[in-house]
Amino acid sequence: MYDSYTETSLRYDPDRCVNCRRCTQVCPHAVFAEGPDRVELARPAACMECGACALNCPVQAITVQSGVGCAWAMIAAALRGKDMDTECSCGGDDGSCCG
Ligand code: SF4
Ligand code: SF4
Repeated sequence: MYDSYTETSLRYDPDRCVNCRRCTQVCPHAVFAEGPDRVELARPAACMECGACALNCPVQAITVQSGVGCAWAMIAAALRGKDMDTECSCGGDDGSCCG
């Protein structure tokens, strides 16, 4: 079964987290949720690698390689007026976005 958490670059280190909850506020897909002691990865498969959580985390508890993959390709294609297949680097088998 496809597991996007293992396929995406999102990484969360709970030992660093100071529970400021910024990531729960900025994530457009509710990937993070409040937990009993600190935030938890509630919906890791929903991450689109936008990078907002990592940018707003004050203690670098989150890393994600934004600017690659499908989410960025959609933005780049729209901004440049190009076809998404020419922008995405996700490596679809036939060269098209996501195979
Ligand atoms: S990279 Fe974007 S979509 Fe993924 S968890 Fe962070 S804020 Fe949410
Ligand atoms: S932004 Fe960073 S420190 Fe704040 S709750 Fe999220 S992971 Fe923890």
